[in-house]
Amino acid sequence: MEHKIYLDNAATTKTAREAVEAMLPFFEECFGNPSSIYSLGAKSKRAVMDAREVIAKSIDATPQEIYFTAGGSESDNWALVATAEAYADKGKHIITSKIEHHAILHTCEYLQKRGFSITYVDVDEDGVIKLDDLKRAIRPDTILISVMAANNEIGTIQPIKEIGEIAKEHKILFHTDAVQAYGHIPLSVKECHIDMLSSSGHKINGPKGIGFLYIRQGVKIRSFIHGGAQERARRAGTENVPGIVGFGAAAGRAFASMEERMEKEIELRDYLIERIAAEIPHCKLNGHRENRLPNNVNFSFEFIEGESLLIMLDMKGICASSGSACTSGSLDPSHVLLAIGLPHEKAHGSLRLTLSEENTKEEMDYVVECVKEIVAKLRSMSPLYEDFCKKNK
Ligand SMILES: *Cc1c(COP(=O)(O)O)cnc(C)c1O
Repeated sequence: MEHKIYLDNAATTKTAREAVEAMLPFFEECFGNPSSIYSLGAKSKRAVMDAREVIAKSIDATPQEIYFTAGGSESDNWALVATAEAYADKGKHIITSKIEHHAILHTCEYLQKRGFSITYVDVDEDGVIKLDDLKRAIRPDTILISVMAANNEIGTIQPIKEIGEIAKEHKILFHTDAVQAYGHIPLSVKECHIDMLSSSGHKINGPKGIGFLYIRQGVKIRSFIHGGAQERARRAGTENVPGIVGFGAAAGRAFASMEERMEKEIELRDYLIERIAAEIPHCKLNGHRENRLPNNVNFSFEFIEGESLLIMLDMKGICASSGSACTSGSLDPSHVLLAIGLPHEKAHGSLRLTLSEENTKEEMDYVVECVKEIVAKLRSMSPLYEDFCKKNK
């Protein structure tokens, strides 16, 4: 395979060798059902328990509070729908933000059609939720606040500890979609008063199709999949043993190396941000300059289309994204970029580069040169840019 520069780690990550190797035995030799009595089943059961323990410890929870799911989207759906059902007699109001992942926003729309009322709180121009607006949105019938820990498009990290404190003070449940934050920055459910937290394996070098929902002990929430007694009878179905084992291995790896990885990614990120900002005219960094994920870079370039930029970067062996993978295929600009106040035309010209510890400074240099060249080329073909240049002569 030709050398690719992979800069789309917010969409998915390469499965770590450690995760693959940990999984392999559970396809062949150790294929037993964890619910079986014989030792072959017990081996699977043990492996699931071990993974649960590693993951629980990583967020300051207990193993009984970790429920394996089929990924981030399922965890988000479960947290919202099951809370809504369980607490409907207390109230039918949910608060979330305008920049959530579609797994949250579309679930909210679903609940809205079923009689729930949803408040979508605004964010500022850096993508930070407005805490005063959040407080003002609270009503006597509010049952849940769901705000993501870090945004998948612009990388902004939310003040989730403050949000957790507000929720606790008003005796409202607090859920956070931590799919982008988990394994990338430190997270403690205790410190942040989090009642539920969603995470996904494939965003932290684990396999796809596995995630977990943390549910704090004492939170009354309905089962999501009905059937057997797996996951304490709250999420039925024979466990995805290889997936769980791979996720556990990826989590162990992510937390053991977090500090040095953060340091390395932040250095690369800032290098990339500074070079692009200094060398390409008419661009703007999206997201908070400091409170952002260590691996996220998101720029808007005026007078160009993000899609064209992506296609031309692909021809140079660079994998990147414009907005989020889930929004591609639609012509609407990203709801996140609109929420931070970008006009449509600027939102269309956005580029997201999400790094990993495997990237190098040499790759960043190559990327800057390519982006510079392509942006200039696209602008040279843009009538809008031509007009702009004439006016500003
Ligand atoms: C990727 C992502 C999800 C969805 O996770 P899947 O495991 O792909 O279902 C949800 N929320 C955020 C913030 C994400 O980045």
